[in-house]
Amino acid sequence: MTMQSLTVLGATGSIGVNTLDVVARHPEKFRVIALSGQNQIEKLAQQCRQFHPRYAVVLDAAKAQALQALLAGTDTEVLVGMEALEFVASLPEVDSVMAAIVGAAGLRPALAAARTGKRVLLANKETLVMAGQFFMQAVRDHNATLLPIDSEHNAIFQSMPAAYFQRNNNGDLKAHGVRRILLTASGGPFRTRELDTLKDITPEQAIAHPNWVMGKKISVDSATMMNKGLEVIEARWLFNARPEQIEVVIHPQSIVHSMVEYLDGSVLAQLSNPDMRTPIAHSLAYPERIEAGVNWLDLAKIGTLTFEAPDLRRFPCLGLAYQALAAGGAAPAILNAANEEVVAAFLDRRIPYLAIAETLDAVLQRLAGQPVESLEDLMTADAAARATAQQLITASSV
Ligand code: NDP
Ligand code: MG
Repeated sequence: MTMQSLTVLGATGSIGVNTLDVVARHPEKFRVIALSGQNQIEKLAQQCRQFHPRYAVVLDAAKAQALQALLAGTDTEVLVGMEALEFVASLPEVDSVMAAIVGAAGLRPALAAARTGKRVLLANKETLVMAGQFFMQAVRDHNATLLPIDSEHNAIFQSMPAAYFQRNNNGDLKAHGVRRILLTASGGPFRTRELDTLKDITPEQAIAHPNWVMGKKISVDSATMMNKGLEVIEARWLFNARPEQIEVVIHPQSIVHSMVEYLDGSVLAQLSNPDMRTPIAHSLAYPERIEAGVNWLDLAKIGTLTFEAPDLRRFPCLGLAYQALAAGGAAPAILNAANEEVVAAFLDRRIPYLAIAETLDAVLQRLAGQPVESLEDLMTADAAARATAQQLITASSV
């Protein structure tokens, strides 16, 4: 493997830290060119001292000043703002971009990486949920290589026929012998909780995921299963799958990360311990393999792997995501933007747990359906969804 130059967007987050952990194990294979963070300036400065990037990027001037002070005397140049994120995602000397910013803020830099033909290691699923059609088009038009970091999509990628990802494939699952994608879900912390106690769920309970340690937003999304809904939409774009070709299966142990069912009845799966360093190392080294620092899977010790169908009464957000996908146009972007607002309001204790799905349903009913012709249309829909969600949150919060 030749030396790869890397930009890590969202370096201070859960995926970013895991990425740098893998990178640190292979100093002869990876060179860090740029890192980005948002609020955790001390952590970003520490990462810069360890990995010596050429650039460190933050979003606002005050943070930049603080970071500059911490990095005085080092070779790292501090840059500010969304344009700077796009700049470090598209530098000619960068081969690969880890897109691990959370939320809609990750879209523009991920697009910049695709438009400059990078290897895009995509953790930011919101990019595909919001703008899947535009992003996939940019990947094709600019010969970018797209590698999914989300563990399920990484598992599907590994279980699909390799020819499916070569250029000029016809993008037809059936023509490649694939019948369905089976997307596994842990079911989160509330899979077996009494239905009539869901109303009492606190933010602390919602972010305590049984198998994974992740950022707060995705942890709440996992509790509501909106995360799986977003992943269905993500899979639709990544694998050119129709909604009926994607089935969600609950698998509480999070060992089978997803499966691909073939026309002859074969089902191929990728298994590993629930540790994001496995899909991260896979994508960093692809098509080679490198050590990720994870524990080896001990199936005899785990003993039992179980599967069940999801209950949409318990997890209405999953149903809303299928609805948004069927509605098409701006509906997934609306769902995504409204979800960011309601999750933040829930974490701030402004709305109760059950209001997450209720508010999303109301926003979708009011706004869904507009066709989308440009990225600007999507941005307009995103803003309208946030405003409508905020109105509903304010009206309902105590
Ligand atoms: P975290 O919240 O842990 O990290 C988010 C990163 O983005 C941090 O570096 C944060 O900076 C930065 N950031 C936050 N807001 C902004 C903004 N507005 N502009 C620029 N940077 C920002 O999230 P995760 O690492 O958990 O998730 C990252 C992405 O990966 C998400 O899209 C998530 O859905 C996806 N993902 C995560 C998985 C996981 O296991 N964690 C699994 C699969 C997908 P700072 O912390 O310095 O404020
Ligand atoms: Mg996932």
